[in-house]
Amino acid sequence: MKKIVLTVVFLMVLVGTHFSWSGHEGFTYHLVKNIVPDELVEIREYSYQEKRIYNVSKLVLGDVCGKAILPPWDGALVPPDPTPSNGRVPAWQILTVYSSEPDWGMDQDLSLSPHQVLIGNSQGVRHMKYRLLGLDFFEGDESFYYFHDMAKEAFKRGDRYWGYRFLARALHYIQDLSQPYHNVPGEILEVLKGLFDGTTKRMLANAHFVYDDFLAFLIYSGDEDILKAIEEAEPIFTKNEWELVQVVRGLAMSYFPTVHKEMKRVFEDTLKKREPSEKAFSVVSPEEFRSLYENGSLDSLKFYTVELVGKVSSYLKGYLISFLRSVKNIK
Ligand SMILES: [Zn+2]
Repeated sequence: MKKIVLTVVFLMVLVGTHFSWSGHEGFTYHLVKNIVPDELVEIREYSYQEKRIYNVSKLVLGDVCGKAILPPWDGALVPPDPTPSNGRVPAWQILTVYSSEPDWGMDQDLSLSPHQVLIGNSQGVRHMKYRLLGLDFFEGDESFYYFHDMAKEAFKRGDRYWGYRFLARALHYIQDLSQPYHNVPGEILEVLKGLFDGTTKRMLANAHFVYDDFLAFLIYSGDEDILKAIEEAEPIFTKNEWELVQVVRGLAMSYFPTVHKEMKRVFEDTLKKREPSEKAFSVVSPEEFRSLYENGSLDSLKFYTVELVGKVSSYLKGYLISFLRSVKNIK
């Protein structure tokens, strides 16, 4: 049974390699800016023995603050990214900039499992956690735990720069787990149909990419409701990281049916016809999002997305606050 489902999952993954709940920097900036202390952190060299392998050709280990955040379109409201001064950067900036780091290529083209040949790319293995027919696949949760532990270790060593940077990576993976399409590739009948039917396969891949871009569009357009949902979310604390992962995945999965229905209603032909692409905003452009947004077509999708992101933000704030307390630095 697991083998059959596994084959289905692998075939689904072949549809594309765009795996990010886009807008990580924006999401993180609005999440952390009122929580993290005004701490200036000295940039440190990387000095860790790790249990993870990376695509070293794409792994960035130097500091890129001040040159990392590019607006996805002219006039997009991206977070500030000041140039470091005297070798120091604010804690909020490390968290913001490096929350997108796992999407820069470090998880691509690796040999992570014997089934690697079927997957085509390893990034999805580390950024997603599918549940299909009651079975779980992939390692998004393990990626989160891994960088949570690395962050603890760095803070313990007194290396606050890498402490925040590993924490930013942990935030990336837990944010990925809050994206419905990172947990569920499609309705089960669509997933099965997608094995034989190119249009269905394309529709599911595009639904994932376009929903990623939709959140980025809302955040970088400065939509007041999404920003308020993130910034004003009241912290909720979980007992431990395991419980956090279960709650976040549970929320993402509970929103899947509504979000997926809305995605198909709003974007139906676009999802079926256009070529899936991992490049942000290349399936639905910012201009197209803008015109749908202005004529009210995205209202319902936005309503559910704001609700989901607000709930997730509460748990992420609870997590961050207790993490920062444990390393003794909190406002
Ligand atoms: Zn990702």
